[in-house]
Amino acid sequence: MWTAQTVADLRSFRRSLKGTVAFVPTMGALHTGHISLIHAGKKLADHVIVSIYVNPTQFGPKEDFTKYPRTLADDLAMCKEAGAAGVFNPTNEEMYPPHGLECRALIPALDTILEGAFRPGHFAGVCRVVAKLFNMVQPDVACFGRKDFQQLRVIEEMTHDLAMPIRIVGCPTLRDPDGMAMSSRNRYLTPETRTRGLGLFKALSEARAMIEERGELDPHAVEAAMNMILVSHKVDVQYAVLRHPHTLAKLDVIEPKLTGGVVALIAAKVDEVRLIDNMVLGER
Ligand code: AMP
Repeated sequence: MWTAQTVADLRSFRRSLKGTVAFVPTMGALHTGHISLIHAGKKLADHVIVSIYVNPTQFGPKEDFTKYPRTLADDLAMCKEAGAAGVFNPTNEEMYPPHGLECRALIPALDTILEGAFRPGHFAGVCRVVAKLFNMVQPDVACFGRKDFQQLRVIEEMTHDLAMPIRIVGCPTLRDPDGMAMSSRNRYLTPETRTRGLGLFKALSEARAMIEERGELDPHAVEAAMNMILVSHKVDVQYAVLRHPHTLAKLDVIEPKLTGGVVALIAAKVDEVRLIDNMVLGER
């Protein structure tokens, strides 16, 4: 497996590849969820390129950029084992050369709500780094996890609106056997905080049962039920809402004929660890 830290090396590797390329951008501290994206990429293209880069511009000043887990040797071994053709793990200087001025792609309808409201500037940083990585890697297809549902929607819109010739594929969320969505940040959890963090999955499962089994049509009833479960797990709820799966707009009613269903989205803190999770419900 090829690896490089510089854009020049990446470009010469990219030129040497014959056939199509799938791209899997990550921040490292890889787990089985990330690896599932590499496997998805292998089905969609001839080669898979993974990037491992903890992007400073998507972290707020009080967020966990400096203590974000960094496990490069293990990550490279996992990428190799999964069959990635190459890994790009650039330095900050390579990604953001000094004296460059900041360029922003904004999608106000999507990037100021939910995650964007609690993490101002987050999606500007995500769009900037993903656009740069797309230009560097020049993939045919890029795989993103539905775990970061709003991020996936933002990237889909950015790619569409800026006419980037890249197919964006959303992949299912991988979960531990107890239902906890896999996340690099789960390694911050103790057994006690992990049990509390399971409240997110339980709240989403209750939302699923209400909508898919009991035919609930009132979004406020579902949101109230999710909040009750989250509070009983002693997590600090930032949002627990039902939204339209495409626009992420508020809903007055859960429309049974909506083929894409509705998406339930949660962000909550367990002590200092911020967790997000979501489920698309009632999808046909
Ligand atoms: P990150 O390293 O957290 O930036 O994530 C890199 C990619 O992996 C993003 O597209 C995430 O949505 C995806 N991802 C993270 N966790 C999971 C998971 N549990 N299942 C599937 N994909 C995931």
